Amino acid sequence: MKNTSSGPSMLSRAVFGRLLLLAIVCFSVVWIIDYNSGIIASFDAFAYPICISSFSVVYLLTITKKAPDQYLHLVTYSVVAGYLIASSIWHHMATNGIFSNAAQWLGLNYVIAYLFLEVRKAILMTILAFSVTVIGHFIALIQHYSIEDTLGVVLNIAVAHIVYIVLLWTVIQLRSSENKAQQQVSMLEHYAYIDPLTRILNRRGLEKVTQELEQEFHLGQQEFAILLLDIDYFKDINDRYGHLKGDDVLTNIASLLSRKINPKDIIGRWGGEEFIIYTMNQSRKEIFDYANSLRELVSKLVIGGITVTVSVGVGYSQPDKGLSDIFYLADQHLYAAKKAGRNTVVDRISNSKESENGKAGLLVS
Ligand code: GH3
Ligand code: MG
Ligand code: MG
Repeated sequence: MKNTSSGPSMLSRAVFGRLLLLAIVCFSVVWIIDYNSGIIASFDAFAYPICISSFSVVYLLTITKKAPDQYLHLVTYSVVAGYLIASSIWHHMATNGIFSNAAQWLGLNYVIAYLFLEVRKAILMTILAFSVTVIGHFIALIQHYSIEDTLGVVLNIAVAHIVYIVLLWTVIQLRSSENKAQQQVSMLEHYAYIDPLTRILNRRGLEKVTQELEQEFHLGQQEFAILLLDIDYFKDINDRYGHLKGDDVLTNIASLLSRKINPKDIIGRWGGEEFIIYTMNQSRKEIFDYANSLRELVSKLVIGGITVTVSVGVGYSQPDKGLSDIFYLADQHLYAAKKAGRNTVVDRISNSKESENGKAGLLVS
């Protein structure tokens, strides 16, 4: 129900501008035709130019963004509704005894209210338009007709208008429940894909991203690499300081990495004390340096007096290899980094080179 009372107007500025132009053109054409054929009513001769000028001013304020949209919507609505109600009442006041065609257009006042205005304002304006319409027509008709005839016409108008209002209100409520259902779906999706401890993507979220990446990868649109980061000797931290402290370490590392990765990169928790980063559009040298800088940042982090290190395995994208191949490579390289003494980055395996603990680039051929 909250949305129904405060939901925004459905109109974008571009659509509103187009509707104003349409109103200016329609009013101008009708004005010119009525004027030239000599059938223009004295009320319209006075009202058309006022409406056209008002729409033009609102249009200029809209395209120049000189006034808030909601006020411009309200002004436009007041001009349209005011014109339609006043025109119908004026015609009913005439002494020719014919009920005016203008009354048939009054239903527009409710449709336009819900189109132009936010819901709360639309409710107020429809109540106002309804009251002025019913009372105004009663006053106009009672001057020429009996109370029975007047009540007959006015009640007809009132019932028809109540039907308009109720139907529109139902549409608004349907719209609101649809919005709520959509919000719930996105919320559930959020919880399904986010790790509650570290607030980064969980394994399911990563798998979803992986599928999307795989599609782009097949299209050859992205060059990327997978970085697998595993905290070194994490079990010891749990054993020495307890699992809560271990959780704290995980949260702090996830938060540090999330802040330090490139804006377009994707980070997630693969499981336990392992993280994945997908990094896009960099050369192999840049990716290697990047992985190394992240490793170094983690090693400098102090969490409640505890310092930890990570080992990193890198898998580069290759035209002839699928994502699972690249993941497999990253995993092999992570294993090699652990074997080489940890706190290191490995991006390829060679038979010969010596490793130097604590320095990146181990096993680089
Ligand atoms: P290595 O350097 O070889 O990676 O050693 P390690 O101790 O980090 O690796 P190992 O696989 O032996 O231990 C991982 C530990 O991570 C074991 C498990 O209890 C712990 N762990 C996994 N998930 C969580 C978690 O959510 N919170 C905490 N506190 N610990 C976790
Ligand atoms: Mg592990
Ligand atoms: Mg580990």
